[in-house]
Amino acid sequence: MEKKRIVVTGGAGFIGSHLCEKLLEQGNDVVCVDNLFTGSKDNIRHLMDHPYFEFMRHDIIEPYYVETDQIYNLACPASPIHYQYDPIKTSKTCVLGSLHSLGLAKRCHARVLQASTSEVYGDPEINPQPEEYWGHVNCVGVRSCYDEGKRMAETLFFDYYRQHKVDIKIIRIFNTYGPRMAINDGRVVSNFIVQALKGEDITIYGQGSQTRSFCYVDDLVDGMIKMMNSRDGFTGPVNLGNSREFTILELAQRVIELTESKSRIIFRPLPQDDPKQRKPLTDLAKKELDWEAEIQLTEGLKKTINYFRTKI
Ligand code: NAD
Ligand code: UDP
Ligand code: UDP
Repeated sequence: MEKKRIVVTGGAGFIGSHLCEKLLEQGNDVVCVDNLFTGSKDNIRHLMDHPYFEFMRHDIIEPYYVETDQIYNLACPASPIHYQYDPIKTSKTCVLGSLHSLGLAKRCHARVLQASTSEVYGDPEINPQPEEYWGHVNCVGVRSCYDEGKRMAETLFFDYYRQHKVDIKIIRIFNTYGPRMAINDGRVVSNFIVQALKGEDITIYGQGSQTRSFCYVDDLVDGMIKMMNSRDGFTGPVNLGNSREFTILELAQRVIELTESKSRIIFRPLPQDDPKQRKPLTDLAKKELDWEAEIQLTEGLKKTINYFRTKI
């Protein structure tokens, strides 16, 4: 493949750091733009000496200027704890950050990919969720800054596409996990693994009957790159995720088994607006991108557990 100049916003985060790594491996020139709110230099330390890697500490709620061929727009805290810490900032990051990435794409005639989310479906009334589903979202709840922020970002992407012919791509990412999730991230996979390894109680919110479908980060990164390089005119949105659905109780039991932990399971109140079920319909990704998540939960959890063992 010819060398491309690629911007990754949020490149020092969990998914972004794996993406930067893969893009460099493929011979590209990568600029990582990140304000290090939830990301960390540790995630990209191994890339810092690479001659085609640059780190730019910048907050994308302010405009930014680089010359580029492709932009992956990932900057945004993804864990409920982090995006609810400063919800107004989360809305700004989703909306202004997307606007600036789109302005950059327009000026450079670059292709721009938005990392959207299954949260645009809210607490879905249908399962699994196809891309055509408009969602069931509370616009005044504690998750709204993220859900509505990401929905507005999709709107901006489509308006830049229609009004300015910007070359856009949208992926809707379903729960993704793997090495480099922050220890204090608060999302379910990292919480359960850290608790199990420390022998602490495993905290299930609600009864644990709510479901999620967990995608290992390497699968997701492959899908993202395939989407970025997909045929002209295919904008998405396209769901990217693993279509195997688990209850949160099943996840807790699997983690205990794999870590051989003595931790007990305890139950805590369910947070407001917590979706009861979530599972992607991935037919479109299969058809357009020839992509399907391949790594099964046990295999992905083992790799993630090994990573957290080195951190604890
Ligand atoms: P993360 O928190 O590890 O990464 C987000 C990165 O964005 C961090 O490095 C953070 O410092 C940076 N950032 C946040 N606000 C910024 C700002 N204003 N300016 C510059 N940088 C900023 O989360 P992640 O799991 O890697 O998520 C990456 C993207 O994927 C996010 O857009 C998220 O919404 C999306 N996503 C993730 C999941 C998942 O399960 N991990 C699911 C759906 C969507
Ligand atoms: N922008 C940016 N980098 C660029 C080009 C634009 O951050 O390389 C910002 C610009 O400051 C504006 C936004 O992106 O806030 C949208 O740009 P656009 O050109 O669409 O809008 P305009 O500047 O005409 O309002
Ligand atoms: N969850 C849990 N215990 C935890 C963290 C999360 O039971 O320690 C639950 C949470 O209530 C939700 C599911 O696990 O039902 C997934 O939560 P996460 O924050 O990982 O992602 P999201 O809700 O955004 O899908």
